[in-house]
Amino acid sequence: MEKIKIPKATAKRLPLYYRYLIILNEEGKEKVSSTELSEAVQVDSASIRRDFSYFGALGKRGYGYDVKSLLSFFKKILNQDTLTNVALVGVGNLGRALLNYNFKRSNNIRISCAFDINKKITGRILSGVPVYDLEDMKQQLNDQQITIAILTVPSTAAQKTTDVMVDAGVKGIMNFTPIRLSAPASVRVQNVDLATELQTLIYFLDSDKEN
Ligand code: ATP
Repeated sequence: MEKIKIPKATAKRLPLYYRYLIILNEEGKEKVSSTELSEAVQVDSASIRRDFSYFGALGKRGYGYDVKSLLSFFKKILNQDTLTNVALVGVGNLGRALLNYNFKRSNNIRISCAFDINKKITGRILSGVPVYDLEDMKQQLNDQQITIAILTVPSTAAQKTTDVMVDAGVKGIMNFTPIRLSAPASVRVQNVDLATELQTLIYFLDSDKEN
């Protein structure tokens, strides 16, 4: 399939649309208007129409969008057809929670291996996922052709673990540590800072109260 260049903001909304379309499809709905979509995914309908126009999709005025064709379209764009294995590095509380969760609601991503330095954990299988020593990372990632890793080590170990991951060929890091990692430009880092996100929410609620 030809690669379509889409803005980052649009790309971020695609999974939201996709998840909702799956629900509609399961309910047997055949079409959906941009207004309905807008209410369900909390994106204004003008943005939805603009987003969809990047794909040359597929709506007719007064009819809405065809659920099945949107779904198969997004499926291709989001690579839902192919399974992506990812690694998890740092099997502490958060790491274990993610292992246990293991994206069960998605059938195309899964954590297929984990790494730690604690000998009490390595060599075991936790929530169905083998935990290897950090030293074996390069070999394991190579064997399993994994290029994406979730980072849940303590902050103090974040940068040096990142260096090991980059050396092992990781191209995408989902960073759960509060550290801003340095990595080569060819490596993408997605920061997930739960405390900051909550703090932002608290800030908004407080300022709502004041108004
Ligand atoms: P969490 O932040 O997940 O709640 P925790 O409090 O359970 O963690 P941490 O001290 O943050 O524990 O460590 C998380 C995990 O990362 C531990 O299992 C620890 O052994 C592991 N770890 C520490 N340093 C490294 C490292 N350099 N590489 C890989 N794993 C590491």
